[in-house]
Amino acid sequence: MNIYSEISVLKGVGPKLKEKLNKSGIFTILDLLLYFPRDYDFINGDIDIKDIKEDEKIILRCKAIAVEKDVRTRTSKTISTIVFNYGNVKVKAKWFNQFYIKNNFRIGMEYNLIGKYKRVRDTLEVVNPIIGCNEAYENEIIPKYSLKNDLTANILVKLIHLILQNIIIQENLPEGLIRKYNLLSLDEAIRTIHFPKDKETLKRAIERLKFQELFTYSIKLLIIKKHLKNSKNGIAFNICEELKALKECLPYNLTNAQSRVVREILIDQKRNSPMNRLVQGDVGSGKTVVALIAMFNAYMNGYQVAMMVPTEILATQHYLEARKLLDGFNVDIELLTGSTSNKEKCRIKEKIKMGEKIIVIGTHALIQEDVKFENLGFIVTDEQHRFGVEQRSKLINKSKETDCLVMTATPIPRTLALYLYSDLDVSIIDELPPGRKKVETMFYDVNKRQNCYSLAREEVLKGRQVYIVSPLIEENNEMKLKSVEELYEELKRGVFSDINIEMLHGKMSPKEKDEVITKFKNDETKVIISTTVIEVGVNVPNASIMIIENAERFGLAQLHQLRGRVGRGQYQSYCLLIANAKNEVTKRRMEIMTESNDGFYISEQDLKIRGSGDMFGMRQSGDAGFILADVVEDMNILRCASEDAKKVINSNEREDVVLCNEIMKNIERSSTYICFN
Ligand code: ADP
Ligand code: MG
Repeated sequence: MNIYSEISVLKGVGPKLKEKLNKSGIFTILDLLLYFPRDYDFINGDIDIKDIKEDEKIILRCKAIAVEKDVRTRTSKTISTIVFNYGNVKVKAKWFNQFYIKNNFRIGMEYNLIGKYKRVRDTLEVVNPIIGCNEAYENEIIPKYSLKNDLTANILVKLIHLILQNIIIQENLPEGLIRKYNLLSLDEAIRTIHFPKDKETLKRAIERLKFQELFTYSIKLLIIKKHLKNSKNGIAFNICEELKALKECLPYNLTNAQSRVVREILIDQKRNSPMNRLVQGDVGSGKTVVALIAMFNAYMNGYQVAMMVPTEILATQHYLEARKLLDGFNVDIELLTGSTSNKEKCRIKEKIKMGEKIIVIGTHALIQEDVKFENLGFIVTDEQHRFGVEQRSKLINKSKETDCLVMTATPIPRTLALYLYSDLDVSIIDELPPGRKKVETMFYDVNKRQNCYSLAREEVLKGRQVYIVSPLIEENNEMKLKSVEELYEELKRGVFSDINIEMLHGKMSPKEKDEVITKFKNDETKVIISTTVIEVGVNVPNASIMIIENAERFGLAQLHQLRGRVGRGQYQSYCLLIANAKNEVTKRRMEIMTESNDGFYISEQDLKIRGSGDMFGMRQSGDAGFILADVVEDMNILRCASEDAKKVINSNEREDVVLCNEIMKNIERSSTYICFN
């Protein structure tokens, strides 16, 4: 057995179990080893019953002494009770509707029972305890796995245990690094993360694996960068003659920042090494036109150009914008999304396959297997933060040495971007087009929300339009949050009863969404109540108010994005944040939003007060494909890893060169950054 063997080599994995595991994305031994617990229960063992707290899960070693007769409740549930001894204290364990539970116990045997114990007179009671009699549960730290498709923790634990009995994982970090940071060995780290002995070692295991991820990630980026920089296989585009005419035809003058970034991109295009550039620019800074100019140039050089965006709404919008700006230059522009008709798709794919000169703007549909670019010269991904790296690289792989431009409005703190995107050259559009009015941002406590709506009403009567955003689609009593549907009903009956309002959310079909957006754009609908599907790209200059319900539920970066939907025309615009600001952190976060319109400032502040594990970092991590590392929380590890990676890459020591090669080989085989030799 080696780590790339299929799971079916394991004893006990028959076709049925294999299928279940496959459904959870587990195919190989490696996949199982990397199926890390998502959390742990820290459980106190044998403790004095005086110290038992009712809401605390603990583990007690109990001896089974009697099985009571099952009892049926009035609601026709069956309660099975088994009596145990814990020392000389009686413990009654009850299970609901688990008829077979009795078969798991033998009178006279000892078991580890995990649960929350309650004192009832001089006995203890516990409901639905977990039986921890197998080896893995001897520990006091119990891994919690996220499980799907009727996989159980028991099965996983058993299999992983079996693997670890038969395998020793080779070390693959340089000895120097292990010593420098006093890291656990890879083997011990993997064992510990599944079967932790104590908190301290668990902490070190997690640290080691986070370092591993971030180090490997950094190495990968640096290798890509080095490779691209040294490659002469890129396309050396000419600057086409029509470019000047295009600039003159634009309905506005480019800002200085836009011109500078266009220049930087064109210089990249002229080079024969492939471009890999990130354009960062706050919402509304005018990234689209910058991309279109570069796309136009690549097209005029005779190449296919693809622009990938995360939503259909945005794809359509960019498509129309491109048609408008490039009108008169005889450019073939196509839109390819999930809802493009099959006939249309075929027609477009055929053109793409034949290598015809074309600009295609689209969603994921662009990276489907059957889209085969023949002559792809330039790739743009917009709103990069919405895509997984995985998706991005899929498109890139469609054509290896193609120029790539990625654009993002997520203001990533400079310090972080330096390490996170070290493979990319970065351009920053740090200036908004002239004449924009600052969006006035105000914060309202929940009990003042009616004031917001009165204000919105006034604006509508003046002819403006309003966005209202809520974090949820459906009612959710548990969380007491206003859902889109609920809000819609409430407002339609109340303050907006005489005004056209509509809903927009992710559960609607693309066609329905499209209709809602179009009506809003045409000013037929005055108020749109939406989930965050509105976050990206929608451009309606007449909209002057953005109301965000439960603003405390959003990350600052996201609030800033949402706010960017207004203030796009000549009207003074407002962003009204409604939040339940009971705690200080929420208050501070709302304050940051009201005091600044600068995305970079906001992201730096966010970084400072973080600690609540809010969305910004989580999403970033998910994107980059890390299992454990959170690039924001673990920025210190990232910094070390990135600097160490640089040293390794730049060294000519044989050992280091071999290491880099190994890492690259393994990364190609597996999609994670934790790889084994
Ligand atoms: P983002 O950077 O958020 O993607 P967009 O590209 O959507 O921004 O541009 C926002 C708006 O600003 C669009 O309506 C666009 O036409 C307009 N715009 C872009 N550049 C300029 C400019 N230099 N002068 C005036 N308006 C501009
Ligand atoms: Mg944009």
